[in-house]
Amino acid sequence: MKYISILGSTGSIGTQTLEVVSSNMDKLKVCAISGNENIDLLHKQIHIFKPNICAVMNKEKAIELKKRLGNGETTEIVSGIEGLITVSTYEKSDIIVTAVSGMIGLRPTIEALRLGKTVALANKETLVAGGSYVMEAARKYNSKILPVDSEHSAIFQSLMGNSYKDISKIILTASGGPFRGKKINELEHVSVSDALNHPNWSMGKKITIDSATLMNKGLEVIEAKWLFNVEPSQIEVVVHPQSILHSAVEYIDHSVIGQFGCPTMKTPIQVALFYPERIENDYKSLSLSEIRKLTFEKPDLKTFKCLKLAYDAIEAGGTMPAVLNASNEVAVDLFLRNKIKFLDIGNINERIMSLHKPQKIDCLDVILEAESWTRKTVLNQIL
Ligand code: NDP
Ligand code: MG
Repeated sequence: MKYISILGSTGSIGTQTLEVVSSNMDKLKVCAISGNENIDLLHKQIHIFKPNICAVMNKEKAIELKKRLGNGETTEIVSGIEGLITVSTYEKSDIIVTAVSGMIGLRPTIEALRLGKTVALANKETLVAGGSYVMEAARKYNSKILPVDSEHSAIFQSLMGNSYKDISKIILTASGGPFRGKKINELEHVSVSDALNHPNWSMGKKITIDSATLMNKGLEVIEAKWLFNVEPSQIEVVVHPQSILHSAVEYIDHSVIGQFGCPTMKTPIQVALFYPERIENDYKSLSLSEIRKLTFEKPDLKTFKCLKLAYDAIEAGGTMPAVLNASNEVAVDLFLRNKIKFLDIGNINERIMSLHKPQKIDCLDVILEAESWTRKTVLNQIL
């Protein structure tokens, strides 16, 4: 039996993780879950999965959930960031699925790594913001980070049986999002609902907007750099609208190994939860002859400047990726609340990066200070 903690169990990845658990109750047991404020769903999850711990970020909602628990429900309710850390460090858990949205996952992830736990990482913002610091913690405490992001799971699977030193380049595929092929003048007045209308994937709002700006691919370039220890120049983003090739690795002998499959996040979630084993499931089988055509094109870095900014941020190094990430988190939130326009997201990120002098990351506080400077500066620029 593998014991699992889930940070963000009420979200898109969190609920799909619980679906994978439901199909494998004889092998997996959920011992800790967390949410931000959706206590209706947390209560349902407590009822079904009977975890030992449930963290609610919002302290008032935590109190309300505690009151709602019935006689037989013995789950301990904790709250705030300390509550999330209680979930990620819970002694019983073998593997922590980090499925919160945003860099709020940074501290709980670091604390889990410090205990030598295995992290199944969906929460890419943590690796973008924490980069060297997170990887160093994993190395120092001999803990594993298994990718859940579909592209990184594809790369991870394409690397099985091979050596990282033989990588020549990584081919990181992107669906292109809802605005693929559009030019800047066509994006000036797009609405929140246009941007949330992703052609291939149903995901949380933040990552769906990131997919529309291609910031998501930029964050994934940075994520790949850290996970697979490659230079940004070795990461080629290719737009592949069908989302069937989930990414690939080219080796020094020019062999290319990729991972294909029908688009469902349950595959990479299952791969991470059962690694190094593979287990059967009832997901859709891939028929290439039915799909018939897979297409590939270059991304348009002029229209989708966020992708270019990600390469610039890694090049600048230090705290710059954390700043880009935090700026983007605030800008996406403002866009979702109709306070700014779609194209403002990239413009704000670019402006904030131009105002920041990157600092060397030698402790967690440097990252958190860069984050807090960014949040203040974005809001000062807007108001
Ligand atoms: P969702 O928005 O669907 O879910 C986010 C989860 O995090 C929810 O459980 C939410 O709780 C919780 N949460 C949000 N804000 C906070 C906060 N401030 N403090 C504590 N908990 C919080 O996101 P997704 O599942 O789509 O994405 C999660 C992560 O996985 C992201 O980093 C994303 O980039 C990554 N990812 C997602 C993919 C997908 O297909 N969805 C694919 C690849 C990566 P509540 O419900 O109570 O608000
Ligand atoms: Mg992805």
